Formats: sequence, structure tokens, C-alpha cells
Amino acid sequence: MKRNLKSAGAISLLALCGSLLLPASAQFHKGTAKLYEEKSGPARKLSSTSAAESAADRKFATVSETFMFEALSRAPATASQAGYHKHVQAGKAGKSSKILILDAMLDDMSAEFMAEQIKFYSTWRDKFAAECPPQNLSAQNAADAELLNDQIALSLLELEKIQNYKHNPTVVVEMIGSALFQPLTSEYAPRATRVGHVLSRVEQIPRVLNQVKQYLDSADPIFVSTAIAENAGNVDLIETTIKKEVPKGNPLRARYDRVAPAAISALKSFSKWLETDLGKRPNPRSWRLGEFYPEKFKLVMETDLTSDQLLANAEKTMKEVRQDMLRLALPMHEKMFPSHGKHDENGEHEQQSRVISEVLDKIGEEHPKRDLLLKAIENDLAGIKQFIRQKKIVTLSDRENLKVIETPLFMRGIYSGAGFHSAPPLEPKSEAQYWVTPIDAKTPEAKAESRLRENNNYTLKWLTIHEALPGHYIQFEHLNNIQPPRRRLLRSLFANGPYVEGWAEYIAQVMMDEGFMGDEPKFRLIMRKIRMRLLANTILDVRMHTMNYTDEEAMRLMTDECFQTQAEAEAKLTRAKLSSTQLPTYYAGLVDWLALREKYQKAKGKNFDLLQFHNLVLDQGPLPVPIVERLIMP
Ligand SMILES: [Zn+2]
Ligand SMILES: [Zn+2]
Repeated sequence: MKRNLKSAGAISLLALCGSLLLPASAQFHKGTAKLYEEKSGPARKLSSTSAAESAADRKFATVSETFMFEALSRAPATASQAGYHKHVQAGKAGKSSKILILDAMLDDMSAEFMAEQIKFYSTWRDKFAAECPPQNLSAQNAADAELLNDQIALSLLELEKIQNYKHNPTVVVEMIGSALFQPLTSEYAPRATRVGHVLSRVEQIPRVLNQVKQYLDSADPIFVSTAIAENAGNVDLIETTIKKEVPKGNPLRARYDRVAPAAISALKSFSKWLETDLGKRPNPRSWRLGEFYPEKFKLVMETDLTSDQLLANAEKTMKEVRQDMLRLALPMHEKMFPSHGKHDENGEHEQQSRVISEVLDKIGEEHPKRDLLLKAIENDLAGIKQFIRQKKIVTLSDRENLKVIETPLFMRGIYSGAGFHSAPPLEPKSEAQYWVTPIDAKTPEAKAESRLRENNNYTLKWLTIHEALPGHYIQFEHLNNIQPPRRRLLRSLFANGPYVEGWAEYIAQVMMDEGFMGDEPKFRLIMRKIRMRLLANTILDVRMHTMNYTDEEAMRLMTDECFQTQAEAEAKLTRAKLSSTQLPTYYAGLVDWLALREKYQKAKGKNFDLLQFHNLVLDQGPLPVPIVERLIMP
């Protein structure tokens, strides 16, 4: 609904939610998961065929399932996250087949393997085109085929052209962190087995670091410094977290003592090498994506929208939201600062800047104590849940599997505020995690205060709505109910970013429109500040990656125009350099969701039911929103 477009919603500097930080080389950029429970048999078969399906559909089911399992077997860290643990590798030339225990393996990142990946994806692309033409498929399978094709194309774009893995050392560092962390926090096998898997992965760290050093040839300083910071998190994971799993007397302790020192030494020497060697080389490529941007943008958005169109929309909307913020802030300003007058002597823009900042500052004073951040969030959850039930916004999960935990250390570079980690699609009963980054005890008081003001009582409500309910958590719970499991796995691995991030923002706006927090103007103003953040994210990504936008211009946009604090804006500036085409997904998705809701509501007329609509769209899983429309319109 256009009317609502300027009235709320938004994204976080707090979160990189939805994005799983998998090695770009491994293809599944946007997996979503974590694992659980070991299956008894080694081979898994997901396809269930029904009589109603055509031969073409049955063929697609088999071929796509084989593709996903083979792709996962080539990316063990991702496989763990999807809940895929064992893979049967067919024997070559008369040899018997082999069972791969994926949780014990660390990804191959050799130059030879990267070249093989290109062959792997091109071969599968051609196979799908030849054997599963989409026009013969059911509407649901055709949707799956589209997702799959786009993701194969995205992988090939990365491997053949962008080649981030050759220039960005955070790829390997984050792959290692995820690979070590996954088996520790999930229960797919007895604890001792899982710790054994982690130790196997630890043992392979020197090998993988050695592989990437062969081809990492230059890197932007921002990639180097981030990789060094995150790599310290990997060292900590081994020295502290994993060590705690094998106290003296534990049967695995001897193994830890054998493999950990070599891994730690390799990680530390890798950081040293980044600092003194790679980081000192001439760097012809910057972090800017440049010429590859339009192609990547199209494959990530999966709509006809161009980045120019989205940019123009965001810049126009920003002006409208600012006016709207002034309208809301003026009455609060008058109450909060009765002696100030209206500040309208220097024109409207100046008045907006002054009045809105003062009111936001004042709202920021209402925040939890620094050591009670997690507690405050847990308390909010109950009230939010009750509101969703009472207003019949969407059906909640019957699995009580959401856990609020501290963000793992090696992820705090990116998840500086919060994030969401769903249960693995193949193990839906497993834990879903809402990560909250605590304020470190060593953080100076002033800095802690600044972060708490950003995460004031009202922003935290929005955050929990976005990350958990009815945002990401509820969306992924619906996804994790999709049948057959093959489709669930496919839509989870190849999830459309704008669907995921747009949903979290769209539904936050619905919550507000349905009266969450009454008519509290402070919450409404914060929601608009977050909408401004989301517009800024869009503008930053397009302008920084394709238009040589400078750091100064970016900072000015965020602080002067969008009311962000210096710290908030600096963190976002870094993130905007580390990623590309991810930051616009929030706004692009929101626009699509609002349009779909309007169309559907119009088509249904008097019979429109909010709960039914939300359940229906979530039960499709994260397809591009225009495809959802194709599937659900009455
Ligand atoms: Zn999100
Ligand atoms: Zn004032």
C-alpha cells in the first residue's frame, strides 16, 4: 500500500540478518541454518512423488535433489548448516561408493577446486535446461526451477567474473568460523561425536589457509582489517570455546592437544601474512563492485527492477519520510522542550534536522542498563507474542525452539548488534537462534551509552519484531513446514533476499498499523527513523558500488539526512564496503510486499483476511515476491 510506504518499517545497522556469511565460493550465499539429530541411514532421500505429478515434475524432483546434495557435499560447512550430514559419493570406474561425513570435513578451497566448481555449475545449468524445461513443470516446480537457475547463475558470476575469493580474505575466515561453530550448537549427534567432528575440522585449518594463500593476490584494506579482526575470533573459538568442550580427563583431550596448536599457529601466521604481505601489496581493485553490479543486482533481486529505478524511488521517498517525521516530532518537541519554539526560522529542512534530532535524542534516554540488554529483549518477546495472537496477524510456530543467545565472538565483526539464525531446513525441530551482541565489559562508558541510546526501548521492540516475531523467526518457521522436504531445502538454500528482509520490514509496519504500543508517538517516530535507515542503505549500496560515492558523502547522508549517530554510521559504512547488493534488499522487498498486499486485498475485497494472507504467503517460502504473487492470487 503506497499510503503506508512512508509511514514506517525498516532495517538495522544492528543486523545482517538473513545473510549467513558463507564462503561466496561455496555458492550458497544465503543459506539459513544450523543442524540437529543424526539420521540413522547414510543416504537420504527427500523426494516424495505423488500420482498427480507429471513425469516432468518427477524428473525435476529427482534431478534437483541430486544437484542440491552434490552441491552440499562440495561445501561441507554449508551442509552442516542445512542439516545434511552424510553424503554417498558414487564410486568411479568399478570402485565402491564412499560415505562422506560432511560435519568432519572442511571445504576444499584450492585453485583447482574453484576451477572444478565452474565446471560443476555449468554442467548442472545445462542439464536442467536440457532435462527439465520449465514450461513442462507445475507452477510450484517452475518456481523452484527459477530460483535454482538464478542461484547457479549467481555462483558462476562469482566464480568466473567477480572472483571475490581471490581478493577478499574474509571469505575463508568466515567459512572456518561457521564450520567450527555449527556442530557445537546443534544436536544432530551425541556431544562427543560432534566435538570429534569439530576437531577434525580444526586439524584441516592449516591445509585450507595454505590453499587460499596460493591465489589471494591483492585485497582492499577494508577486507584485510576485517579478516584480521574476525580471525582473532577463530583463534578464540579454538582456545576458549572448543577447549572447554574437552576438559582434562576427557577422552578427546589428547586429540585437541595434538591438533589445536598447529591450527592456532596457522591462523595467527595467516593474520600476520595478511598484515605484512597481502595488505602491503598494490591493490588495483577496490571494494567497489563497479561493472559487475548490474548483473549481480538482477540475480539477487530476481525482479525486473533496475538499481537506477530503486535509487530514484529511495531518494524521493526519503524526502517524504523526513516531512512525515517532522509532523510527528513537533508535538513531542513542544512537550519536551517548551521553551524552544518551532525552530522554523531557517527553512523547513533545517527545522526538520533540529526538531527531529532533539526529539530522537530525548527518546534515546529511555534504554535498558548495559548488562540487561538480553533480558530486556526476552521481556519484549512475551508482549509481542501476545499482541500477534490477539490481533491475529500470523500463525505462530508450534515448535517452541527460539533461543535468545549472545552473538558468537567470531561473528561480532558483522553482527555488531543482532542477527537471526534459523533452524536447519532438514531439522526443523532444532534450535533457532536470535543473536544479540552484548556490550563488552571493557567498552568505555560513553561508547556503551551511545550504543544503548541507539538501542533504546523503542528501537529494541522493532528489532525483536524484525529478527524474531513476526519477522525472520516466524517466516523461517513457516518455511520449515513446507512439504516436500526437497522443496523446503531448495527454497531455504536459494532464498530470495528481498522476500526475507522485505517481509521483516513489511510485517513491522503491519504491527504498527495494527496498533502495537498503542499510538505511542515515540515508537512511531523510531519506526520512521528505521525507514530512513533502510532508504539510506539502498542509496549507499548503489552509489558507493557504482557511482564513486565518497566516505564523506556517505557519512553526511547517514548523519545529517537520516539522523544516525556517528558510531552507527561508521559501522554501516564498513558494512556497505564489505557487501554489495545486500543492503538494498530490505527496501526493494518492502516495496514489493506492500504492492502485493494491496493487490491481494483488492482482489479479495470484503473477504480479505489478514491472518490468512500472511500464512498463505509465508507458506510459499522465500521466492521472489512476484513469483509468490503468481502462485497465490485468487
Ligand atoms: Zn533482517
Ligand atoms: Zn528544540
